Amino acid sequence: MKDSIVHDKQLPENLTDYEELKRNDALQYDCCCSCGFIFTTMNVHTREGWLETQISGMCEECWDDMCEEMEPNPEDLRADYHDDFLD
Ligand SMILES: [Zn+2]
Repeated sequence: MKDSIVHDKQLPENLTDYEELKRNDALQYDCCCSCGFIFTTMNVHTREGWLETQISGMCEECWDDMCEEMEPNPEDLRADYHDDFLD
C-alpha cells in the first residue's frame, strides 16, 4: 500500500490492497468516473493503474484512452517512427 500525498489517503497497488480499502470504507472512488464500471482486474491491469483508480477515479482503460487523446496526432507519430525505422 502506498501513502497518497494528494488525498492524505492510502492508495492501492493491487486488487488485494483495493479490497482492503473497500473493507475499511476508505475508498475515494469505488467505480470509474468515466465508464462507470467498478474497478476489477478486467479494467485495471498494472500497479500504476490501481494507484490511478484512487487519484483520478478512472479505470486503466479509460485512463489510457484519455492519455492517447492528449497525444498530438499519435497516428502521425507512429507513421514517422515507422518511416525512420525503415530508413
Ligand atoms: Zn473506465
